[in-house]
Amino acid sequence: MDYQAYFKQSLDQLRDEGNYRYFADLARKKGSFPYATHHNRAGEQETVTVWCSNDYLGMGQNPIVLEAMHAALEECGAGAGGTRNISGTNHYHVLLERELADLHQKESALLFTSGYVSNWAALSTLAARLPKCIVLSDALNHASMIEGIRHSRAEKHVFKHNDPEDLDRLLSDMDPDRPKLIAFESVYSMDGDIAPIAEICDVADKHNAMTYLDEVHAVGMYGPRGGGVAEQEGLMDRLTVIEGTLGKAFGVVGGYITASEALCDFVRSFASGFIFTTALPPAVAAGARASIKHLKKSDSERRLQKERAGYLRQRLDAAGIPHLDNPSHIVPVMVYDPVHCREISDQLMEGYGVYVQPINYPTVPKGTERLRFTPGPLHTEDQIDRLVDCLATIWASRGLRKAA
Ligand SMILES: *Cc1c(COP(=O)(O)O)cnc(C)c1O
Repeated sequence: MDYQAYFKQSLDQLRDEGNYRYFADLARKKGSFPYATHHNRAGEQETVTVWCSNDYLGMGQNPIVLEAMHAALEECGAGAGGTRNISGTNHYHVLLERELADLHQKESALLFTSGYVSNWAALSTLAARLPKCIVLSDALNHASMIEGIRHSRAEKHVFKHNDPEDLDRLLSDMDPDRPKLIAFESVYSMDGDIAPIAEICDVADKHNAMTYLDEVHAVGMYGPRGGGVAEQEGLMDRLTVIEGTLGKAFGVVGGYITASEALCDFVRSFASGFIFTTALPPAVAAGARASIKHLKKSDSERRLQKERAGYLRQRLDAAGIPHLDNPSHIVPVMVYDPVHCREISDQLMEGYGVYVQPINYPTVPKGTERLRFTPGPLHTEDQIDRLVDCLATIWASRGLRKAA
C-alpha cells in the first residue's frame, strides 16, 4: 500500500467536502485580550480581535493567575516529574482538588490533563466496571463523552436532546436492577441552550440512576461562586458526578470530576487515563486554583460578560442579523450555508481584522452553519459596534437571510 498517497487522498476528500480544517496561527497578547497577532498565510502579521475564544472571562491573562503560576514555576520548576502515582503528585494538585471539591460542594475531586480526558476516562471506567451498566446519553453530548462511553463497551441508549420524558420512557423499559448512568451537559456549546437539570435528576431518582453532568461551558460562568448551572439552580447535591474544565472560563488547562470520596477513589484507582500519564505541571495547578478562588469571590467578570453578550444581541437585532436566542453566554450568528459561512469568516479576518471561526458540518447539522461569538468582559462596546457594522456590510453585500 502507498501509505502517503492514502493520507493525501483522504485529505483531498475532506477539502472537496469543505470539511478540511484550517487553523488560525495566532499569538495572544497578554494585557490586551481580545487582541492577538495573526500570522497569515502570506507570512505577514496583523492584529485581530478574537471573538470565538473559550477564555470566556479573560482569566488566561488575569494578573492573579499569572502571579500564582510564576511563583509555582520558581518554586517547583517546569514539570510534575511523574505520574500522580510515581512521584508526580505535587502539593498544588492536592490543593487544587480540595478547591474543586469545595466549588461543587462534593466530598472529593480528581484532576485530569484535560476536560476531554476527564470525560473519556471517568465515563469509560464507570460504565465498564459497574456490572452490566446501561448508559443513557443525551443526543448532543460532546465527543469526549461519546468516546468514553464507546470505550466502556457498555450498553448505550441515546435520549432526545434535553428531553426528560424521552429519558423516562427509555428507563421505564429497562431492568430496574441494572446499574444506570445518565450522561449530559449543562450548557451545550453550539446552540448555547441549557439542560433541564432538575427534571433529569427527577427521572434519575425515579429509576435509581446515577447522573453525570458536564459543566465544561458553565464552570466559572454561572452560579454565585462560579460552580456552574447546577450551583445557580441549587442542584449540585442531586448530581452524582460534576465534570469540568480548567481550560475555558478558568483560563488555564486541565479537567476534573467531583463526586463522593468513594467514586473519585474508584476512578483514581481504575482509570487508565488517570493513572498512566504525567500529572499537570505544578504551575498550571497553581494558576487554575488562583483562577477558581478568584471567581468564587468576584462576580464582576460574570456581570460584565452578561452585559456584553446582551449588548451584542441587542446590536445584532437592530441590524437584523439572525442569531439563536438562548439563555447562555454563547451568541450563535446563523448563516445557514457552509460556503458563505467559511467565506465570511475569511472575509472578516482578511478585510476587517475580526477573527471568528466558521462552524460547519459535522460539528453542527447541515443547513445550520454559523459563526459562534463569545463576547467577554474585555470586549468593549466600541468593538461590538464595529463587529456588527462589519457583519451588516457583509450581510448586505451577500444578500444573506435577515432575521424576521
Ligand atoms: C471543550 C469540551 C470538553 C473538553 O474540555 P477540554 O478541557 O478542552 O479538553 C468537554 N466537554 C465539552 C462539552 C466541551 O465543550
